[in-house]
Amino acid sequence: MPPPALLVEVFDLVLGRTCLGCHTPGSVLCPECLALLRGGVRSVPLAGLAIPLHAASPYDGLTREAILEYKERGSRSLAPMLGRLLADAALAAARLHRPARCVLVPVPSHRHAPRGFDALGAVARSAARDLSRDGLPTRVERRLRPGPAYLPMKGLSRSERRTRIIGAFRAAGPTRPSDAGSLVLLIDDVVTTGATMSEALRTLTIAGMRVDAIAAVAATGPSRGRPARNPAPVPPTLRP
Ligand SMILES: [Zn+2]
Repeated sequence: MPPPALLVEVFDLVLGRTCLGCHTPGSVLCPECLALLRGGVRSVPLAGLAIPLHAASPYDGLTREAILEYKERGSRSLAPMLGRLLADAALAAARLHRPARCVLVPVPSHRHAPRGFDALGAVARSAARDLSRDGLPTRVERRLRPGPAYLPMKGLSRSERRTRIIGAFRAAGPTRPSDAGSLVLLIDDVVTTGATMSEALRTLTIAGMRVDAIAAVAATGPSRGRPARNPAPVPPTLRP
């Protein structure tokens, strides 16, 4: 379980961290900069996906920087902030379904992911806690596991990704009759081409598991609904 937000802030302060957005000493992403990233949840059309994708932010600017800092440079204290953004995307889906409960199903990491750091899992657990606090009881369930053919896809073209991802996942566990009344969301940190999501959705559907929507911290591609909102952060001294 990740440490509480207050403890994370103390660690960040001790380690001399500064905010990625405004460079204020303390947290690696200060509450003001996180607030700037929130409120921009959008629906993103992706070819071939039969269910809606809700993303908290476009994959650019400060959001992109925070995700890279978290995943590639291991700033684990960002998990609660990214979890909050994922929870916002899940709430957008919940507004359409009005469920009693919610299940978050993470897309698995490939087998070559760094060991000992379940990056998406930590964000998902934090999002589940936020959603439960927001009044939507939520749990994380691993219903997909990586198959032997699931390899990194960084640097591949769109068509190469679509080919390589086929058969990458295995469904875990039996079908879930307990899903009645639950909103089932497939989740990931970043959705780019949608190839991974399509395959994850196909695997779950074949296994008889229902998925209502996809939620992500960030997505590339054109938005539908409200315009993208990811402005350059304003230093605290310049804020009104
Ligand atoms: Zn800041």
